[in-house]
Amino acid sequence: MNKPDLCPACGGRNDCTLANPKTAGQACWCYGVDIEPSVLQALPAELRDKSCLCPRCARVDDQLRANSRPVA
Ligand SMILES: [Zn+2]
Repeated sequence: MNKPDLCPACGGRNDCTLANPKTAGQACWCYGVDIEPSVLQALPAELRDKSCLCPRCARVDDQLRANSRPVA
């Protein structure tokens, strides 16, 4: 029941590029953000490093929005 493309915390899509064969060559959004260690520690040990969190559970929505803002 361990799907790499689903968030282990909420079961939603995590949009991890590595879990999708089409985008596996691209850096995942998770590489560009800082995830609070406490967020990762709240996960069951067996789920850590198996599936990506979704941006919402990783609490990085703000960081992603800042990163994707067009540079004009
Ligand atoms: Zn989630």
